[in-house]
Amino acid sequence: GATLGVLGGGQLGRMFAHAAQAMGYFTAVLDPDATSPAGRISHQHIRSGYSDAQGLAELARVCAAVTTEFENVPAASLNQLAQTLPVAPAGSAVAIAQDRAAEKAHFVRCGVPVAPHAVIETPEQLAAVPADLLPGILKTARMGYDGKGQVRVKTLEELAQAWDDLGRVACVLEKMLPLAHECSVIVARGRNGQIVHLPVQRNLHRDGILAVTEVYEGNLPLAQAQQALAAAKSVAEGLQYVGVLCVEFFVLQDGSLVVNEIAPRPHNSGHYSQNGCDVSQFELQVRCMTGLPLVQPRLHSASIMLNLLGDLWFAHGDTAQTPAWDQVLALPGCHLHLYGKAQAQRGRKMGHLNITATTAEAARATALQAAAIVGIEAF
Ligand code: ATP
Ligand code: MG
Ligand code: MG
Repeated sequence: GATLGVLGGGQLGRMFAHAAQAMGYFTAVLDPDATSPAGRISHQHIRSGYSDAQGLAELARVCAAVTTEFENVPAASLNQLAQTLPVAPAGSAVAIAQDRAAEKAHFVRCGVPVAPHAVIETPEQLAAVPADLLPGILKTARMGYDGKGQVRVKTLEELAQAWDDLGRVACVLEKMLPLAHECSVIVARGRNGQIVHLPVQRNLHRDGILAVTEVYEGNLPLAQAQQALAAAKSVAEGLQYVGVLCVEFFVLQDGSLVVNEIAPRPHNSGHYSQNGCDVSQFELQVRCMTGLPLVQPRLHSASIMLNLLGDLWFAHGDTAQTPAWDQVLALPGCHLHLYGKAQAQRGRKMGHLNITATTAEAARATALQAAAIVGIEAF
């Protein structure tokens, strides 16, 4: 079999490797960390930095195609690899996803509504911020995830202070919007331009981190779901994107839809597809990068995904204690996914639970039971 490569050895790389291996491929992971979740289960683990010429050359030598699981991988590294082998997604698309300012400009180009915002890179731009963007959220343009690199600000004074605190790096100030809920769409686009998608996901975030994803008939009003899907497709097409792309949205209290951000890879909100769909987002990633046919995935079960954060390991004190998986796994339709991370830490994504059932009501009932067992707040 051929070897498929992935830049980044986190849980997304690990689940990509699972899917690739199930389809008969070998996998190679490039990640500097010796204990990375994906590196541990792959046939080859190239321990080098993401810009290291030697590491990249070695990856190119052993692989038939390369993808990424890490959205901050240097675009230049993807471009270098693309000189000798298929790379999906392309460096140009990843570069846009890495920069909130460029990302928002792309949404505007695609005619998709975005939150009112201002780019702040200079003191002059800071001084020119219109007061009606407040209260708002100041976000670093680069490197943020799970709500990191974000400060909520109410006044111009707080804004100036927050920009200082963030080190005066390039930022985007977004107006704080009244959210009714959040949703996301995963699309997969092939080299021939064909697009397939997963059903629209309804997401609950807590403290800036995804907590719960619910996918079943009626999880969102149909018009909202259709609008989100159309917007996600136009964002992917506008990028000439090849690969799996997640587009995150806010649904405002007046029912209107605003695009939040994109992730150029499979996404936490798509994990339910491993058990709820006949084709998972990771299988879509394998199909995209190898040029295999894309088929429209079918949701065969009402699905709920619960994130398992490291905090659950510390429910009873400062010594990490494994949650009661035996009780969770006694629930029908409960599927446990753990990422093989050595240490549980508060705020760290350790795994997830996928709950599947024939009806949304049954899925919710089981998910609430599972949540109670492991100590996740009800939703
Ligand atoms: P991710 O891990 O998804 O990449 P991130 O660090 O890039 O997260 P965002 O998606 O920008 O962060 O924001 C995290 C969460 O904060 C959102 O899902 C939403 O719940 C809340 N949030 C962000 N921006 C706004 C806004 N303009 N108005 C209201 N809530 C917001
Ligand atoms: Mg983000
Ligand atoms: Mg986000």
